[in-house]
Amino acid sequence: MSSLADVDPEIAELIRAEERRQADTVKLIPSENYVSRAVLEATGTVLTNKYSEGYAGKRYYEGQQVIDQIETVAIERAKALFGVNHANVQPYSGSPANLAIYLAFLNPGDTVMGMGLPFGGHLTHGWSVSATGKWFNPVRYGVRQDTGRIDMDEVRALALEHRPKLIFCGGTAIPRTIDFPAFAEIAREAGAVLAADIAHIAGLIAGGAHPSPVGHADVISTTTHKTLRGPRGAMLMATDDEHAKALNKAVFPGLQGGPHNHTTAAIAVALREAAGDDFKAYARQVVTNAKALAEELSSRGFELVSGGTDNHLILIDLTSKGVAGKPAAQALDRAGLETNYNTVPFDPRKPFDPSGLRIGTPSVTSRGMGESEMRQIGAWMDEVVTALAKGDADEADKVIARVHGEVSDLTSKFPAPGLA
Ligand SMILES: *Cc1c(COP(=O)(O)O)cnc(C)c1O
Repeated sequence: MSSLADVDPEIAELIRAEERRQADTVKLIPSENYVSRAVLEATGTVLTNKYSEGYAGKRYYEGQQVIDQIETVAIERAKALFGVNHANVQPYSGSPANLAIYLAFLNPGDTVMGMGLPFGGHLTHGWSVSATGKWFNPVRYGVRQDTGRIDMDEVRALALEHRPKLIFCGGTAIPRTIDFPAFAEIAREAGAVLAADIAHIAGLIAGGAHPSPVGHADVISTTTHKTLRGPRGAMLMATDDEHAKALNKAVFPGLQGGPHNHTTAAIAVALREAAGDDFKAYARQVVTNAKALAEELSSRGFELVSGGTDNHLILIDLTSKGVAGKPAAQALDRAGLETNYNTVPFDPRKPFDPSGLRIGTPSVTSRGMGESEMRQIGAWMDEVVTALAKGDADEADKVIARVHGEVSDLTSKFPAPGLA
C-alpha cells in the first residue's frame, strides 16, 4: 500500500509544513483547538467510504450494520454529556446546523432575532450577508456601550416589539457568561423558539465551567471542533420530542444528504474524552488561564471589552495602544503568536480593518500551559504591539524576531496534542 508521501508528495509536504507551523505557534484563536491523536485517527478512516442517508434503523442504503452503531454511540454520548433527550450528530458544521434550525421552525420572511455580528453574534444569526439575513427578517440586539455586556432589557423590548419566531443567544466574540434563564423568559413572553448556539463554549459547558442552556433553551446548536476539542462538525440537541423531530427532518432530508461517518466516529471519541475528569480540569483551566491573560493585558494598558472575561475568550480594543487590529494581528503572527483581528462593539473602523483583536485560551491550555505562561504571553503581546505603535519598522522587526525566538522556546516545552 502506498502512503500519502508516495502518492502525493506535494500535499504530504504541505501537511507536514502545517504540522510544524501548528507545533511552533502559540495559537490564541479562541475558536480553534488541538484534537487528540485518537480523534485524528477516527477521522482518517474507511468510514468516509460509506453513504448513510437517513437515521439509524431508517436508512436509504444497505450495509449500515456498523454505521448505525457508531452514530448511535455518538448520540448516546452527546445525550449523557449534555443531559438532553435528543441529539443529532449529522450537521456538517455549525453554519448548516443553524440553517437547519430555521428550516425546522421558520418560513422565509419570518422574523429571527440574534446578536449583531459587530457585537459578537454569528453570521448565521441573521446577519445581512448571510442567507439567514437575506431570506428571513432579522432583528438584532447588541451590548451596552458603557458595560460591553448584553442589555437584557433591550433584548426584551425588541422581542416584544418584533415578536420573532426564533431567538438566538450565544455568539463568536462574547467574553461573558450567557444568561440562558433570562433569554428563556424573554422567548416565552414573546412566543419564540429559543436557540442557544454554544459553538464556542460547548467544552466549557461539558466540563462544568459555564452554565448549561439545558432546561432553558428549546434547541441547542454547537460545533464540535472548538472548546469541545472534536473534529470539524456540529450537533443539534433538544429536550422536547417535537422540537427534536423537527430538527431531524430539517437536517435530513431538509438540508443535507449523507452524513460524514468518519466525522461522526470522531465526534463520538471526542465526547468520550469530554466526559472524563481530565476534561473537567481542562475546562476550568481554560477559564483560569483566560482570566490570568486578561489581567496581564489590563495591567499593561490594553482595553478589554466588558473589562475582562468569564470564559475562554478576550476581546481587546487596541485603540488605547494606537494600533489597529489587522497590523497588530499580522505583527503578532510574525512573532509566533496567532490571533485574529476583530471588530469591537461600536467600532468606528471598517470590518476588514477593525480596532480589535480576539484571543482565547482553549489551544494553549490543551498544550498544558498555565497562568505563568499566560502572563508571559501577555507580556510578549505588549512588547510587539508597543513596538509596532512606535512606527519604527526596523525596531519593530527586531522585537518581533526576539519574541519569536522566545515563543519557540516555550512551544518546544509544551508539545501540542495530536502533533508528532
Ligand atoms: C463557529 C460558529 C458557528 C459556525 O460554525 P462553522 O463550523 O464555522 O460553520 C456558528 N455559531 C457560532 C456561535 C460559532 O462560533
